[in-house]
Amino acid sequence: MLRRLAVLGQPVAHSRSPGIHNAALAALGLDREWSYEAIELAPADFPAFVRAMPAAGFVGANVTVPHKRAALEAADDPSPTAVEIGAANTLSFAGGRVAAENTDAAGLLAALPESPKGRRALVLGAGGAARAAVWALKGEGASVEVWNRTLGRADAIVEDLGARALASDDRLRANDYDLIVNATAAGMEGEDPFGDLPIAPGSFGPGQVVVDLVYGDAETALIGAARERGAAVVDGLEVLVRQGALSFRIWTGQDPPLDVMRSAARAGR
Ligand code: NAP
Repeated sequence: MLRRLAVLGQPVAHSRSPGIHNAALAALGLDREWSYEAIELAPADFPAFVRAMPAAGFVGANVTVPHKRAALEAADDPSPTAVEIGAANTLSFAGGRVAAENTDAAGLLAALPESPKGRRALVLGAGGAARAAVWALKGEGASVEVWNRTLGRADAIVEDLGARALASDDRLRANDYDLIVNATAAGMEGEDPFGDLPIAPGSFGPGQVVVDLVYGDAETALIGAARERGAAVVDGLEVLVRQGALSFRIWTGQDPPLDVMRSAARAGR
């Protein structure tokens, strides 16, 4: 029987995960036994759909917006990481049980050029992606400050994960941080994010690492500004590939070829 994998989301049509995973399955000669598809799912349908997946031949699934919290709640066996972050992006089905993991956190760390231990980090945003980033960076020993447009949501992260919240009207000097992670949706659709974020494009510099979780058909303005000023940059597609590679390993037990996954991720560009 075909071993099925999927990404569950709404909307999900533009997800790059099917392309990334099917390319990796083909490169490892697994594409006759395995396949990966995108499934559009309304929140009300999520719990029942997940329960029915094993009987329909599914071995696992990625979960994206808006289902990451529901994925955690649907699990019989959530990992401690997923519980602490409060969200899961990877489900696996074995022995009639639903297991849930969060690979966004480890995927971010894997994408960084160096360990954030002892570094001063700024995370922009307070949604699901920001929670995973804060958890990952704190766990590696970085000192983490969080800025969010809506201060109350940043306060919730601070309480849960022990970072420091910044006032939402603070203007920040990007140069004060060794590592900056944009985990807001600002800059999606190719628009200029700097009107919405508390940092100026001219304040990046050498010695810094700048990560933009946002990705699209072209380089984002944030990544472009950071690169121009000599910062090391990590784009959202690299983080997507890294979290996907960790999910792939959970399902298949094999390490996928990262370069194949990267090429597939960037093929849409
Ligand atoms: P989410 O839970 O909906 O959170 C959205 C966050 O963005 C909130 O902090 C929100 O602030 C902020 N925001 C939205 N529009 C903004 C704007 N115009 N200016 C400033 N802040 C704004 O979403 P999420 O799941 O955390 O995802 C956030 C981003 O990360 C998305 O672009 C998503 O595609 C990306 N992402 C990428 C990866 C990857 O692997 N590359 C993985 C996960 C997510 P408020 O609280 O004030 O509303």
